[in-house]
Amino acid sequence: MTVKERFTRLISRLKAYGESYNYTCDLCGREVFENERLCKKCREELPVITTCCPFCGRRVLEEGPCLECKRQPLAVQKARSCCLHEGGAAALVLRLKRGERYLVSTLADEMLPLFLREFQESDALTFVPMTKRAERARGYNQSRLLAEELARRTGKELLDVAEKQRETKAQKTLGRTAREENLKGAFHLAKRREVRGRRIVIVDDTMTTGATAGELAGLFTRAGAERVGLLTFTSVEDTALHPKRSKK
Ligand SMILES: [Zn+2]
Ligand SMILES: [Zn+2]
Repeated sequence: MTVKERFTRLISRLKAYGESYNYTCDLCGREVFENERLCKKCREELPVITTCCPFCGRRVLEEGPCLECKRQPLAVQKARSCCLHEGGAAALVLRLKRGERYLVSTLADEMLPLFLREFQESDALTFVPMTKRAERARGYNQSRLLAEELARRTGKELLDVAEKQRETKAQKTLGRTAREENLKGAFHLAKRREVRGRRIVIVDDTMTTGATAGELAGLFTRAGAERVGLLTFTSVEDTALHPKRSKK
């Protein structure tokens, strides 16, 4: 067999592997129809947010703004998430961050309809940057992959305008003042001109406190962005409001 033949055979094997792989559910491994990434059961079990706060998009039990937004409004004009950060939805996010980068398509399948419903008027997408060191360690930035995928599917422009200059601690472990301190100066807007007059949606996997996206939104707004929104696959429920839920 020539090298070329061997190469061709290898490629066709890889293709066959890729195709068969696409035909199983990303959560339970059950067989699914062509082009489906989750089976019917797993999709139905996703903790989809049906009633949400009009500002931060967190799940609320009754329509209207959540307590957290009444106390301190988010720095993005509008945030929306597909699911609560629980069950299958949380598992998908965790696996995406731990190397299974193909799950970007699975998350984008769920995020696209929400994007079209809530952010149709936007004209650009962007992502939460990681420090160069953290991105090298993981091999990719999942927030960027999601933004790229949604930009590709919607035809909107992808903005790569901000940099993360230093590591920050996980926001959820900190009190409010410490959070602000933690984020201060962490991001740098390298291309100010590109955000002027734009209606931007920041895309990320999870919204915890919303402070990270808020910090970026502040940078964009000060540089003249018209509007900044946030779209994430999951959002963490405010544990202060749901102490019982958080124990689960
Ligand atoms: Zn399944
Ligand atoms: Zn809210």
